[in-house]
Amino acid sequence: MTEFTHSRRRFMVLSSATLAAAPWLASCASAEGSAAIPAKAIGMPWPNWGELPDTPPSAPNAGSVGFAVMGLGGYGIGKVLPALANGERCHVAAVVSGNPEKAKTVAAAYGLPEDAIYSYEDFDRIADDDRVDAVYNVLPTGLHLQWTEKSFAAGKHVLCEKPMALSAAECEQMIAASEASGKKLMIAYRCHFEPFNLRAMELMREGAVGKIKTIETAQTYRMGPTSVAENWRVVRALAGGGPLEDYGIYGLQSALYLSGEMPVSVKAVTEQPANDPRFAEIFSTVTTEMRFPSGAVANMVTSYDTTPGRNLARVEGEGGVLIMEPATGYGGHKMSLVRDGVREDLVPGDPDVQFARMCDHMADAIREDAAILTPGEMGLRDMALIEAIYRSAAEGREITL
Ligand code: NDP
Repeated sequence: MTEFTHSRRRFMVLSSATLAAAPWLASCASAEGSAAIPAKAIGMPWPNWGELPDTPPSAPNAGSVGFAVMGLGGYGIGKVLPALANGERCHVAAVVSGNPEKAKTVAAAYGLPEDAIYSYEDFDRIADDDRVDAVYNVLPTGLHLQWTEKSFAAGKHVLCEKPMALSAAECEQMIAASEASGKKLMIAYRCHFEPFNLRAMELMREGAVGKIKTIETAQTYRMGPTSVAENWRVVRALAGGGPLEDYGIYGLQSALYLSGEMPVSVKAVTEQPANDPRFAEIFSTVTTEMRFPSGAVANMVTSYDTTPGRNLARVEGEGGVLIMEPATGYGGHKMSLVRDGVREDLVPGDPDVQFARMCDHMADAIREDAAILTPGEMGLRDMALIEAIYRSAAEGREITL
């Protein structure tokens, strides 16, 4: 998350009177307002960013894959719906939401009929909806397993947001559910479809900096005041350990796809400041050192508590350095290659294409039975590494993998 361009255009901000009258929010807060957001699917108010289209998208191309977007939050409305609408071989076919008013407004903006609106309670009837080929799961992480399994049970393919789940065991369950249903499972690792990151991978494969010695990644920002009653990102049952799963996963992924290697060991430290409601259940900061078989070492930091934030991936080799900053956001990427004291700024394309290209890739996988670039196994791989990182920090020692 983070590095968003926030926009309130066309968004209603619900008044406290409206919130009090909204039954779908009742389970969200205790009388004292301090209970954690529950780890079950419930409707939420309008997010504070994202835009709806002024006019519905044009009719999908022939053979286009229909997606149901599950969870109309910031990313669902801000990026997923526009990505599907902009795709060439995919389109928005339905929405799944616990907030009926929001769902109705979003469905109308995307030209969907009312019977293409699903709640979490009546979701199972989607099995009979031939307009929907796949579900794009944009729920909080702690709900990915349950709702991915439900989607497979309904006979749909699943594109699931990162991080895949809360544990490697959950990831394995999702992969098993995919196999049992014969439906595809893809993890929405958008950087694999983004021109700067694709060019960086290519450069590293070509040996542009020579033998890689060090990789440095930083994915950090300072989260504003919040608590477990207000924000699922600080609720352990919904977000796991916090910044590493949410944002640091981009640094972890970068280290893997830029080095082209899997680590042989990890050594990590976590911070969890006392008496800060943001960090009652999650870590504020995770720093990790990963060693690779080639001898290269990656140092990664991720934090919800540093300012100004950073989004960096930097690779130093015997023959040069590749600097990506910002490296993995929605846009505004910058990338330079420095060799023999000469700096070359690279602009390999428009980062904005990453969202629609990723959805088109899933559509191709479904229609043509093509291999998925970012399958469930990749999500499982990353979650297993994240577990090793937390184990290293908890046990205060380097973990050999
Ligand atoms: P938001 O909090 O903005 O939205 C989550 C939505 O999920 C809610 O609006 C609600 O939709 C639904 N929901 C159902 N149950 C709950 C619950 N118990 N608590 C909170 N929300 C619930 O989250 P984001 O959109 O930012 O993130 C959603 C997913 O997308 C996460 O997995 C996150 O990691 C991922 N993400 C990926 C990004 C990327 O760059 N790839 C960037 C940002 C997020 P409704 O009201 O319609 O039911």
